[in-house]
Amino acid sequence: AAAQEHCEFKTEIKKLLDIITNSLYTNREIFLRELVSNASDALDKLRFETSRGTEVKDPDLPLEITLEADDNKHVLTLKDTGIGMSRDEIVRFLGTIAHSGSEQFLENMARESKENKDASDIIGRFGVGFYSVFMVAHKVVVTSQSYRSDEKPVRWTSDGLGSYDVETLDESLPRGTTIEIHLKEDHKEYATENRIKHIIKTHSNFISFPIKMGEETVNQVTALWREPKFSVKQEQYDEFYKFLTYDSEPPLETLHISVDAPVQFKALMFIPKKDYDIFNQERDKYGLDLYVRRVLIQKENKDLLPQYLGFMKGVVDTEDLPLNISRETLQENRVIAKIKSTITKQILSALEKMAKSDPDKYAAFWKEHSKIFKIGYMDFAHKDRFAGLLRFNSSIHESKDELTSLADYISRAKEGQKEIYYISGQSREAVELNPHFEIFRKKGIEVLYLYEPIDEFALEAVGEFEKFKLKAAENADLKNLDDFADTDKDEKKPVEELSKDDSKILDRLLKKMQDILGEKVTEVRLSDRLTTSPACLVSPDGTMSSHMQKIMRLVGG
Ligand code: ADP
Ligand code: MG
Repeated sequence: AAAQEHCEFKTEIKKLLDIITNSLYTNREIFLRELVSNASDALDKLRFETSRGTEVKDPDLPLEITLEADDNKHVLTLKDTGIGMSRDEIVRFLGTIAHSGSEQFLENMARESKENKDASDIIGRFGVGFYSVFMVAHKVVVTSQSYRSDEKPVRWTSDGLGSYDVETLDESLPRGTTIEIHLKEDHKEYATENRIKHIIKTHSNFISFPIKMGEETVNQVTALWREPKFSVKQEQYDEFYKFLTYDSEPPLETLHISVDAPVQFKALMFIPKKDYDIFNQERDKYGLDLYVRRVLIQKENKDLLPQYLGFMKGVVDTEDLPLNISRETLQENRVIAKIKSTITKQILSALEKMAKSDPDKYAAFWKEHSKIFKIGYMDFAHKDRFAGLLRFNSSIHESKDELTSLADYISRAKEGQKEIYYISGQSREAVELNPHFEIFRKKGIEVLYLYEPIDEFALEAVGEFEKFKLKAAENADLKNLDDFADTDKDEKKPVEELSKDDSKILDRLLKKMQDILGEKVTEVRLSDRLTTSPACLVSPDGTMSSHMQKIMRLVGG
């Protein structure tokens, strides 16, 4: 390949750059957070390689990030001693967008950035990364030396408009990456030392490598999760949470744990106020950052958390794994499995405690995160605890926003009642119009209202709670309900009191209906169940509820 090459950016990158430079106005300083986080990633990767025994170029270089602000030339330079990039890598990494499905991605981003000009918010949520530097730069020069000694240094230059140049250098350079940022006229503030220090303190304080300006280390460097709990203030937790998630709000709940047995680990975890994973409809991107003795092994490791607790953000740091563990075998690792099971129990306890001591906070948690939490019906080992944390709207409530637990339902159950009843429907109105609801209204028996398909799966899986069977109202055995007195005053004429002529007419009607419906039904019969509706469908006892059958048909079951 030619030593020097001039290349055009791909169309989607040109579009992305256009959005970045022309539609985001506030908080442009966020570009520095992105570059520092890349430098830190590069250092993490290098530390990971050395810790597993890989030979690297310049092994004695300190692992750090250095910043230099040239106020006269309006140039900010950011240097790291991380893993570096080869020529191939620099073209690949700085020439593609990490997100898959970039068409949709760009459309979403273009739309959102029309309404929201805040760079911090858009870039945080869309993960723009490196390209965000072009919000403030008219020219960027990246010089890099890979940690592999046989690679030559490479230089990548771009104005962020349509193209870039790349060349292999003949000189010898120390390992790592240097980024020279030539600032636009109206953004030269980013070449002043105080401004930069302030930005680092605000956005990059918890980077685990020193960030140096001159002789001074600007960031905090310590690993907060390793500090004893009593010495950490809530503000520090909040600050760390914001650093970790890019959320602008503090977390709903903080969970800092230190465990000695059966495995030794520390975890610092948070429940965000908002479910803000907009690109994560499948809920398959979640997890905790895994460290082994302060060395980052993997970000968002899924093996540390069951999926239904995937709303948790945070880090786990353990003493009990070797540093050279391969990421591929983490899933089968027994230490990881033990950490997962301990963490699961701790989170469930924290939720139970919250539900008890601060129901409003728990309701806020439920509103945002219950969608994913309900997948927990598959966690048989914790079935009872899971069931205890479920919340539903119910017939005793005045509005659709109120919630009850299964335990509270039981505390209100009628003398002799042995089942918890529920009805599924799209809305409160729909449920209350359901003919199966009538007998319950008449008897004054409470019914839980289920609005989401997963609710019924969850309750079917739970099966029973504190000896009460969970039962779809339409499958309820009427004999059980008969024992309860009517609370409803408008009496209808009981079937027994019909005259002979009346019953003859009814018999003929039933027979006629049976003939017309034929094999579509097993039987047409008189019912005590209804008070105002003329007819309803029931399934033979013990089979799926009609709602469930609809769902199964939808998913092709
Ligand atoms: P992301 O960090 O989400 O992968 P970025 O756009 O921020 O996306 O960076 C793209 C890629 O460029 C990184 O994944 C990394 O491979 C490479 N890269 C960026 N900066 C550096 C750096 N300082 N050292 C080594 N590689 C880097
Ligand atoms: Mg990045």
